Order: sequence, then structure tokens, then C-alpha cells
Amino acid sequence: MTPARAEIVVDLAAVRHNVATLKAATGVAMMTVVKADGYGHGMAQVAAAARQGGADWLGVATIDEALALRAAGDTGPVLCWLGVPGEDYAAAIEADVDVTAYSVAELDEIRMAVVAVGRPARVQLKVDTGLSRGGAPADRWADVVAEARAGEDARIWTVTGIWSHFACSDEPEHPANDAQERAFRDALAVADEAGLRPEVRHLSNSAGALLRPSARFDLVRCGLASYGLDPAPGHTSDLGLVPAMTVRARLAMVKHVATGAGVSYGHTWVADHATTVGLVPVGYGDGVPRHASNVAETWVAGKRRPVRGRICMDQFVVDLGGELPPAGQDVVLFGTGRDGAPTAQDWAEACGTISYEIVTRIGGRMTRTYV
Ligand code: PLP
Repeated sequence: MTPARAEIVVDLAAVRHNVATLKAATGVAMMTVVKADGYGHGMAQVAAAARQGGADWLGVATIDEALALRAAGDTGPVLCWLGVPGEDYAAAIEADVDVTAYSVAELDEIRMAVVAVGRPARVQLKVDTGLSRGGAPADRWADVVAEARAGEDARIWTVTGIWSHFACSDEPEHPANDAQERAFRDALAVADEAGLRPEVRHLSNSAGALLRPSARFDLVRCGLASYGLDPAPGHTSDLGLVPAMTVRARLAMVKHVATGAGVSYGHTWVADHATTVGLVPVGYGDGVPRHASNVAETWVAGKRRPVRGRICMDQFVVDLGGELPPAGQDVVLFGTGRDGAPTAQDWAEACGTISYEIVTRIGGRMTRTYV
């Protein structure tokens, strides 16, 4: 078989290992978050691996993503959380997917879908405890709870969960964490008072799950850490999570450049000494961030090799420091970090972003290979 020009290699054993490790470390039920195509790793594949690793739930943003999980054969509990008016709640109900409601208006829409489908829904209520994104604001929470309770009494739905989401869990000392946890407990008390006693109460993402044991409640929702990446660099202790994604390509060409040669568009790097360069045949059309221009490093034949000049749509150039490996030689953009190769976190730091964005956006024309 012809070797790939460039490929994303996803280690599903790493996903299984990470999910099992996180579940053991947190001691509560595990929701593996597989939205956005499994953070760029391939949703169906990582979902299956996560289930094998012990994921009790899968979490996604949209109903379409939840339906794609069902189409891929997943039959376990799935929660989705980002509806818009006119959403196809009927499809979610028929697929036995838990939907999230933030408001009485959303509950009304879900009620209409229940009537149309002729079977009850599974609904989770989201309360805004301070992220100021989705979720019922504190002053509407009692109304949402009352409406949810009435629908439960009328057997329109079962309220399976109550949840919220942290704003600053990757900064464990941030005062918002205490405030949000307090607000969540208050919201649970209001629900309990109204007789809503759901199966699962949950607040934490990966960083919260690892750094804030008091906020684990019945379930944690782990995305990034399931893929082996650190959700709070500098704060977490080493759990032995293994990065699941390696991005590699094959050098299309190697050549000498003379002192004074400008490299790539705009000549933003000019050789201050004679060197050799390699042409890496992927670019921003494949999700390689243009912000990596002149700042990220790659791994070629056991050495870190810096990106020189601008990342282009289909290609970029690395400095091979005078060596001339053969064209076709493997170049790793980022991977597990074993042996010193850069990681997605290294690329994130170089590019001024977060590893979430690096792995989620990479793809384009690259093939994905599962090992
Ligand atoms: N819960 C919700 C509602 C999310 O939107 C996300 C992802 O952004 C997660 C959990 C998982 O977060 P993380 O990848 O930091 O674990």
C-alpha cells in the first residue's frame, strides 16, 4: 500500500486506557464527551473505545451528533445539550437520547415533540451557575423546575439529570469555582424541594473532575483528558494519560538553501546561515494552524525541527539543520511526546491557543488511521 501523504493516527487503546484511568481516579460515573467528531479523533471510533474503557454516558453538543452515535450502533445513555428553537426533539426522543432544557420555552417544545411521537422524553435541566452561557439563569430556575416537575407528574418526560458547567475549572484557585459549586448546590436544593430527584447531577468537565473532588457529584463529563491531553497544564498531577492522536506526514522534498534565502510567502524567515529544509505536504487547508508559522516544532528522524516561514494552504517548510534525510521521511507534527516529539499542547503553546483547538481542527485532506 502506498504510504499516506499525511495521516492522523488515533490510538484507540489510549482512549480506552484514559477513560478507564479517569473513571478509577474520580470514582463516579463517567460521561466521555465525543462532540466535534470526538475532538477531531473520529466520533464513532472513540465512542466505541470509550464504552470499552467504561464510559457510562457519552456527551455531545447537538442532536445530530447524538443521532450519528445511534447510527453507529451505540445504544447506551447519551446526552446532548445545545438545542435551538425548532430543534428536532422528536428524533432525539425516538432515539432514546437525553435532551437538555434551559428554559420553559424549551420544555414546551419538548412537550410538543412528546405528543407527536407518543412516548415520554428523557430530559436533563441545565442551570447557569456563572458561566453565563447556556442554562437557566438563577432567577428563572424555580420556574423551570416547576414546569419540569409538572411534566414529570403528567408522564411527559422523566427528568434524568440536573447539571451545569464550570467557567474556570482549569484555574483551581479561581474564586468562580467555589461560587459555581455553591450555586449548583442551591439549584439542586430548589429542585429537591420541588420533588425532582434525578438519576444524575453533574458539574465537572475534565479539569473539574481532576482538580475538584467536591464537584464530582454523580458523574463527571470528561472530554480532553479522555484523549490524553492535560486540561489544566501546570495544575494536574501525572495520571499516566496517553495522548491518542499523532499527526504525521512524509517529507515531499528536501534541499539546500543558501544564506539570505527567504522561505515561504512573505519571506518572514530568511536563512541567516546555509541550511537544509524539508517540505511538509500539509497546511492550513488540512487544519494546520497558520499561527504555527515560525514558532512550532516538528520531529524528524529523532530531532526537533522548527517550522520556518509561513504555513501555506497545502504545505510548510521545516529547517533540517544541514541534514538531508531522504524525501519520504516521516515528519511528526505532534504526538504522544514520548522520545521528545512535540505534543498538541506544545503546538497550542506555540500558537497561542489551547490543545482543544489544535486537535479538533486538524483534519482536512488527511486520512485517519486507527491503531
Ligand atoms: N461538558 C460540556 C457541557 C462541554 O461543553 C464540554 C466541552 O467543552 C465538556 C463537558 C468537556 O470539557 P473538557 O474537554 O474540558 O473535559
